[in-house]
Amino acid sequence: MKDVKKIKISVIGGGASSLLLAALLNPNKFEISIFEKNAALGRKFLVAGDGGFNLTHSEEIKEFVKRYHPTKFITPYIKEFSNEDFRNYLKKIGIETYVGSSKRVFPSKEIKPIQVLNAFENELKKNNVQLFFKHTWKGFDKEGNLLFDNNGEEKIIHSDIKIFSLGGASWKVTGSDGSWLNYFKDKKIKTIDFEASNCAYKIEHKKHSKTFFGSALKNCVFTCGDATKKGEAVLTKFGIEGSGIYPLSMEIRKQLKENKKAILHIDLKPDLTKAEIKNRIENKGDYSIKDVLSKKVNLNDAQVELIKTYTTKEEYTDASSLSKLVKNFSLEITDSAPIDEAISTVGGIDLKEITTHFELKKLPQHYCIGEMLNWDAPTGGYLLQACVSMAHHLATHLNTQNE
Ligand SMILES: Cc1cc2nc3c(=O)[nH]c(=O)nc-3n(C[C@H](O)[C@H](O)[C@H](O)COP(=O)(O)OP(=O)(O)OC[C@H]3O[C@@H](n4cnc5c(N)ncnc54)[C@H](O)[C@@H]3O)c2cc1C
Repeated sequence: MKDVKKIKISVIGGGASSLLLAALLNPNKFEISIFEKNAALGRKFLVAGDGGFNLTHSEEIKEFVKRYHPTKFITPYIKEFSNEDFRNYLKKIGIETYVGSSKRVFPSKEIKPIQVLNAFENELKKNNVQLFFKHTWKGFDKEGNLLFDNNGEEKIIHSDIKIFSLGGASWKVTGSDGSWLNYFKDKKIKTIDFEASNCAYKIEHKKHSKTFFGSALKNCVFTCGDATKKGEAVLTKFGIEGSGIYPLSMEIRKQLKENKKAILHIDLKPDLTKAEIKNRIENKGDYSIKDVLSKKVNLNDAQVELIKTYTTKEEYTDASSLSKLVKNFSLEITDSAPIDEAISTVGGIDLKEITTHFELKKLPQHYCIGEMLNWDAPTGGYLLQACVSMAHHLATHLNTQNE
């Protein structure tokens, strides 16, 4: 039987998005290659696995899609390949998952992050995906072919379809450094400079704040503008960070841009009303104010120290002012952490530049997926889910389009 000539697909970047994409592309139609600058795949995937590996989140889809910005952009892809679908896929490739108390989805306790990566790599092998390591993409030649640096030598790669999944611009050590932005700018494709998201935020703490550095504010409600999240945050020398803060990133960035500062409101005791707290303070009996805050209002040491450090003596000794502060404690954020320290970034390719199938409108047969596109979501499984949902959509689109 005569061999049918296969369509050549080059996937540039070997991270979370491309792992699933390349495994789902039809190997009978496509000759699939991944070009990765590192000597191995999935470096950022492994970093994500280092601390609480949230593969996805178990939230209902209706709520799930609201975590993304812009919601409208991401919704169809998440609906096509949902958190449940991703868990089923992981199960199929030998990775059992479980839902933690935070509703985040983790690999089963005995499964290490490297085993999750290996399971993906096995699928690539089964799909005859060719891997080219130490290939750093350097833009296009005059004919529009891909240019790579391979151990100091220039290499030109011809392919029918090019898929970019180059990641964001944080944790450069993993390979995702965003240095490719100019190659798209040269093609008149609108790009947006990267900014940190899901990161720590700077607070000019008072000199004597040292006592609470490293302490967690637990079960608090954090609010910035319209964004609100119940959760926890750690007070650090730099400022504040944690799962209660990350979802506020977009609003914090907006306020920082507009006012050079963002105001973070913290309800330190969401389970009690202001009146109830005031009542407990007023009826403190022989308790000191510090004791009444910790023993009767049940604030932890960090919360009490925070209040003590930031209030005047008058506020601290007045039940009405103090209860108000417990319910609405404000901190002024003056900056974001450096981009490299952020869990994710926003910026990259402007969403207006791509079709609903992620094809660059100005460069047909060139596609972009994953964190390199300008969307945002809190960490906790939402980032990886968006990447795999985009990968699933593009693989399905290409498989069916080229039937
Ligand atoms: C500390 C940390 C913890 C995280 N934890 C979680 C979590 O628990 N849950 C969650 O959902 N998300 C988490 N994330 C985010 C998640 O890992 C990323 O959003 C996701 O990996 C993005 O996938 P991607 O495929 O778009 O890009 P990446 O995974 O970043 O992959 C991009 C690849 O492209 C390669 N590349 C870049 N430039 C070039 C070039 N010029 N030539 C060739 N190759 C290139 C890079 O080396 C890299 O391998 C975490 C991130 C960090 C940093």
